[in-house]
Order: sequence, then C-alpha cells, then structure tokens
Amino acid sequence: TAEAGRDFIRDIVQADLDSGRHTTVVTRFPPEPNGYLHIGHAKSIGLNFGIAQEFGGRCNLRFDDTNPTREEQEYIDSIQADVRWLGYDWGDNLFFASDYFERLYDWAEGLIKAGLAYVDDQTQEEIRLSRGTLTEPGKNSPFRDRTVEENLDLFRRMKAGEFPNGARVLRARIDMTAGNINLRDPVLYRIMHAHHPRTGDTWKIYPSYDYAHGQSDAIEGITHSICTLEFEDHRPLYDWFLDKLPVPSHPHQYEFARLNLTYTLLSKRVLTRLVQDGHVSGWNDPRMPTVAGLKRRGVPPAAVREFIKRIGIAKANSIVDVGMLEFCIREELNRTALRRMAVLRPLKVVIENYPEGQVEELEAINHPDDPAAGTRKIAFGRELYIEQDDFMETPPKKFFRLSPGNEVRLRYAYFIKCRDVVKNDAGEIVELRCTYDPATRGGNAPDGRKVKATMHWLPAAQSRTAEIRIYNQLFANPSPNAADFTADLNPNSLEVLTDARIEPAIAESDSDAPMQFERQGYFVRDADSTPDSLVFNRTIGLRDTFAK
Ligand code: ATP
Ligand code: MG
Ligand code: MG
Repeated sequence: TAEAGRDFIRDIVQADLDSGRHTTVVTRFPPEPNGYLHIGHAKSIGLNFGIAQEFGGRCNLRFDDTNPTREEQEYIDSIQADVRWLGYDWGDNLFFASDYFERLYDWAEGLIKAGLAYVDDQTQEEIRLSRGTLTEPGKNSPFRDRTVEENLDLFRRMKAGEFPNGARVLRARIDMTAGNINLRDPVLYRIMHAHHPRTGDTWKIYPSYDYAHGQSDAIEGITHSICTLEFEDHRPLYDWFLDKLPVPSHPHQYEFARLNLTYTLLSKRVLTRLVQDGHVSGWNDPRMPTVAGLKRRGVPPAAVREFIKRIGIAKANSIVDVGMLEFCIREELNRTALRRMAVLRPLKVVIENYPEGQVEELEAINHPDDPAAGTRKIAFGRELYIEQDDFMETPPKKFFRLSPGNEVRLRYAYFIKCRDVVKNDAGEIVELRCTYDPATRGGNAPDGRKVKATMHWLPAAQSRTAEIRIYNQLFANPSPNAADFTADLNPNSLEVLTDARIEPAIAESDSDAPMQFERQGYFVRDADSTPDSLVFNRTIGLRDTFAK
C-alpha cells in the first residue's frame, strides 16, 4: 500500500480496501483524443496509474472518443506513446468509449421507455436559454411531454440519420427547476453526421460526455473515477444515470484540483490554436507544455514523475510555480547527464607560444559524482574557441574571466593570459592573442599561483559547428490570459544560435540522452538534427535565470 505521498484520494482508496467495500482498486485515465497530452494530464496519469500500482489494482487507458468532429487517430497514437513515455503501462486494459456505443444506445432507449428521456426539437440556443441560471429556474421544453412511442420513433430516426445536424437532441427528463443546472434535462445525444476514427460512418448520433462517461466507468468496473474539480457539479448527474440504468457496477466519482502552472496555459483549446495558427512548430515544439514537447526538449520522464509527486493532490485549485518543474528537471539531469563542453557564441583564441601544427590530448571527466561514467579525451592546440561572454576588453571590477593581462584556467587544460585583441574594420573583437603556461597542464600551477576563473573552451580544428536552440517561457505573463493568449506570447521564446561549437564526442554519440554543457545548462539532440547538420535544444539552464 502507499505510504509516502499520501493524499485524500489515496486515503479513500485505502479506507475502501480496509472496509472491504472493494477488494481491488480499478481506476482509469480517460483522455479525449482531440489533442496531445499536456503536463496537466500527466498529473492525472500519475494519480490514476500510481494508485493502481501502489494498491495492486489496475488502471485502464480509455479513450473518451465521443465527439468525432474533433478527434483523430494521430491523437490516439500520440496519447499512447506519451503515457508509455511517462513510464506507465495499461497492459491489456485499453478501451474506447466508442466500443460501448451500442450499449449506451440501448440504455438510452430504456430511459425513453421509462419516461426518463425525450427528444427535443428546440435549437441549441433555445435549450441553453431555457435552462435558466443559478438564480432563475429553467423552463420546460414544449417537447418534454411527448409520448414514449413518439420519442422512440424520433430517436430511432435520429440514429438512422434521417435528420440533419442540430435538428433534434435526446435529453434526460429530470427537473428543469433543479438547483444544480446540470440536472435541468441534460443532453444525452446529438445528431452528428461525422466520420469517427473507429466506428466510421455507422453512427449519426453521438453521446454527450455526461451520458457516456459514468456508464463507461460502470461497464469497466471502475471503483474510483477520479476527475478534476470542474466536474464536481456533474456528480449528481453521474449518479442519476447509474441509479436509473441497469449498469453492472456503480463507480464513485472523486474530484481533485487540476494542475495550473505559472507562465503556462494548459487548455487543449489554446494549445490547438498555438499549433494551428503557427505560433509554435507543432504539438511537440519544445516550448509546449505537452508531454511530446517536454520529451523533445530533453526533459526526463523521471523529472515529470518527481514533479507530480511533489505537487501532491489537493481539493482546492491553486497555481504551481513553473520553477518547481524546472527544479525537478535540473535535479534529475544533474544526477544523470554526462558533462560535455560546447561554446555557444564562439570567440577565437590563438595561443601564440603553442607550436604551430601541434595537437595534444587532455583528459576530461564525464560526471563529477560518478567515476564509473569515465573520462574522454579532448584535443588542445594553437587555435581554440572560448565563449564571447567570457572576455571583456575593459572589465568592471568583479569580472574575473578573461581580459587583457588577466590569467584564467581553461578547464582540463592550461592557464592562459590575454596579450592582444584583434578587431575587424567595424571595431568588433574577432580574435584574442594569448599565451599559455606549459607548466600548468591539467589546470594547476606548480608555483601555487591561483586564478579566479575556470572557463570552458574547444579546439578550433577538432570541434564541430552546431545549431543550438535556446528556449524561454512561451508566455511572458505569469498568468497568461487564455481568452486573448496571443497578447501574452513571449516574443523571445526561441533564440537560435547557428555557429555554436561542440565536442566531437557529442556529435559522434548516437545517444539521445540529455547532456550538461559545462557552465551552460542541459542540452539534448533535437529531432531535426542530422549527421551533417547538428541541432541541439537547451532543455534548461543551470540556474534559474528567467526574469520573474
Ligand atoms: P482541456 O480542458 O484542456 O480540453 P480535458 O480535461 O478536456 O482538457 P481530457 O482529454 O478530457 O482533456 O482529459 C483527460 C483527463 O485528464 C481528465 O480526467 C481530466 O480531468 C484530466 N486533466 C486534464 N487537464 C488536467 C489538468 N490541468 N490537471 C490535472 N488533470 C487534468
Ligand atoms: Mg474532457
Ligand atoms: Mg476539460
């Protein structure tokens, strides 16, 4: 059973097992295949699959594929890939609400026969208006008292495709004056002449979420149907259907707070627009909060799981600082990523006293905390690159990196001193003339003299050019406005560096594991990368430098 990471839902599950109310726990993760999964879904996945794992039960992956106008096979495939990537496995328990269409339909006829459902000819707008408000009761539809025979006939003809979209709906006959608006004769079926990815053109009517969801849970024997807080007000309706229908089990719905993150919008409507309107390169753009985006960006699944664990499960909505996710990513990568050197914005250095044509190999460690990760060789020669930022011609007081006359250490190599600055006609620095001290090989001076900075570098001839993509928050506003999100987009969310230099060890590796580029952050090879044209994504910087 679960000890660590307890929350009110796990407490309920534990109590139900202890009391014998259930002998085994069955949960489900029920995505609608109308988009890619995002990190909010990961929270729900972690909860549902996590509970099943911890309590020895099972978790179904069920596609809530009841609205074919928005659903696509691409999404069905990506959702499965993303759940697996997160580290969860549904085994044989893959289901589709569309597999239950026949049974749901029969049950709907049953409701009609029991006088509990009717066909309404009002328009969608008329229905909306007649449902009233929180302070004003709804009004009965003029079609509410149709006979069972007339309702059955019309419903069967809806099914047969005799009527156009929107002409009629099937509604539950509950109570138009109920305090809970969800109980004011909710819609069960809509006419939709649409091709369904799984059932093709068989169906001309499709069940609503409210009608399909609980019954699907009941068919699958779900014990704990966990959803987000917006559905709390739907619970009486969830129970109403289960009470009225001859379902094989009566699951219970529990609600928890959805994940909200600063600088992020987790709404499929917004994410779909970002993709469709070209604000990002696709669902897996590394700036997207989608699982596919996190993956492409180099975020390890273990970091996502750790994040989900840390934020916990609560009954009240809140907004989590995206810094918490970044913290989990850094922790995991610091532990696992091999160290490499890359120069993002190169500045050429010529070591004047190093013999022309000579090359030597120096040894660099792959992970400071993991000797088993071993070492690698890095070539050192007369021409090198350092980071432009690591040199200042007229430095302020506390600048300890390279400047004229100042001595610094090149990581794993030698002490160097800057003797001269070469500029182009525009006055820009294009090259530094330096000298090295051969006695400092490996990085220490025999005479005990100290330097205040250690800098990364690469050999000019033995390094390779790469494109590096630096990502910043997609939104510049800590709480972006979902209704007008384009106004909050960060114009600097992507910065592309086209002539970065990387170690040959990076280019030659066929591993897709993220690496630490020393002093720069964590990076991963991008899907766009080819052997001739290398592309890397910055997963995250070493420190939290984002201006908040
Ligand atoms: P959206 O509201 O963004 O369109 P959705 O909730 O309709 O998303 P579904 O595919 O229906 O998307 O979601 C599948 C499951 O994931 C649901 O149980 C839903 O409650 C849960 N879920 C969706 N968003 C979040 C979130 N931000 N935090 C936690 N769980 C979420
Ligand atoms: Mg939904
Ligand atoms: Mg939703």
